[in-house]
Amino acid sequence: MTKYFRSNVDAMASYVPGEQPQRGTQIIKLNSNENPYPPSPAALAVLQNINGEWLRRYPQPFGEEFRQAASKVLGVPSDWIIVGNGSDELLSVVIRACTEPGRQVVYPMPTYVLYRTLAQMQDADITEIPYGEDYILPLEELIAVNGSVTFIASPNSPSGHVVPIDDLRKLASQLSGVLVIDEAYVDFTEESALTLVNEYENVIVIRTLSKGYSLAGLRLGFGVANPKLLHGLFKVKDSYNIDAIACAIGTAAITDQAYKNACVAKIKASRTQLAADLKQLGFQIWDSQTNFLLAQPPAGNAEYLYEKLKEQGILIRYFKQPRLEDKLRITVGTDEQNQALVEALIYLVGTGD
Ligand code: PMP
Repeated sequence: MTKYFRSNVDAMASYVPGEQPQRGTQIIKLNSNENPYPPSPAALAVLQNINGEWLRRYPQPFGEEFRQAASKVLGVPSDWIIVGNGSDELLSVVIRACTEPGRQVVYPMPTYVLYRTLAQMQDADITEIPYGEDYILPLEELIAVNGSVTFIASPNSPSGHVVPIDDLRKLASQLSGVLVIDEAYVDFTEESALTLVNEYENVIVIRTLSKGYSLAGLRLGFGVANPKLLHGLFKVKDSYNIDAIACAIGTAAITDQAYKNACVAKIKASRTQLAADLKQLGFQIWDSQTNFLLAQPPAGNAEYLYEKLKEQGILIRYFKQPRLEDKLRITVGTDEQNQALVEALIYLVGTGD
């Protein structure tokens, strides 16, 4: 089939998402950093009001209703907001608008693997710079490359750490290209770099409703940036990238901050408990400002534990990648789910089987 593809398609490392079992399968799913609680009742109520007329017509091309609601919540003008089919689409829109062969896409590693795939799809040049010990940002190296697009996930996946805003500010001020600050997990931390969009027109902060708002299945994300930057991004997005239902449900969800905050508070408390339980079992745990933990098993047998848990119907994430081969990424679930995981691990770690 190769003859049908562009020359680099065969060589491309396609993005491999976590396993997504069929609905109804009885498993404990702690592999994709989904929220274990249902979406806001206000968001679900919107579903009751959907009628054929909504679906007969094309949706608003820029998700205007959602932009207005997000504008109120974030305190930024609505024309500083771009809406996407999940934040993944917005990452792709930035790559499409800002890169081409000969232009550099740069990011510290390990991080979200999709950055690499998207850059490859655009035939962009890629520079991956290893994070320092304890996830210190390789600031000078990133500045030295001065990419057309620099991606920083903050909080980062799979490490869970937040990149200090002063480092991001320095990057933004020194780079002549675009700095994408991927805040997919921002709902689980107090720290955000959103204010940098007011200071630097080359910064876009990208967020999602998949995590804190429990809407991963809806596919809705948004970016905040100076309209001068958004102008170019709008040119390469699909005409109707947000469907009418996603726009309406997302609007209700982001408006219901109290519900999201209550879910987040529960998840943070469970995160503390799960980290303590895993440390008790001898795991090394990195401080996390997200809804997941990076965990290194005491015997270094991460892949084995991943496989054994999977056999028992508990899915977590294992990345066969430099620096991650001896670690696991575990989404924080409900207390019951976390307890089931810890009990399974007590047996596996204790017996070596
Ligand atoms: N950025 C990071 C760092 C992520 O982990 C994810 C989720 N896999 C995303 C972006 C994409 O999220 P979504 O497309 O669901 O908005």
